[in-house]
Amino acid sequence: MTSRDTKEQRLQESRLKRAKALAGIDPRRDPPPPGAVLADHAELAHNNTYDLLPKFYVDRAIVCRQCGTEEVWLAEKQKWWYEVAKGNINTDAVLCRSCRESKKAQRAEARRVHLEGVAKKRAKHGT
Ligand SMILES: [Zn+2]
Repeated sequence: MTSRDTKEQRLQESRLKRAKALAGIDPRRDPPPPGAVLADHAELAHNNTYDLLPKFYVDRAIVCRQCGTEEVWLAEKQKWWYEVAKGNINTDAVLCRSCRESKKAQRAEARRVHLEGVAKKRAKHGT
């Protein structure tokens, strides 16, 4: 392991620790802590909910459903998910980055195989 990896790891760990310390905060009711990313309620209007909407996002510690890795879900990424990708406010990140990436790769591979099959079928039917 290089020293750069260790540094990266230390950074991840301190981020995780900070995210866990913020876990008790309620973004719907509490005032935003330093470093919070403010929410834009106009962008959250797609949520059909009577619940209060969050006023801000803070880094959150998540546990990957697939491999159990603890990871930080960054406040900026949450804002993107809920406000740009229009994710439902009641949905959470459930997979860590590496599981998400391998899932994406799997999907791409399945698609490639599918398209190959389609192309073969077309060739067989003589076009
Ligand atoms: Zn994972």
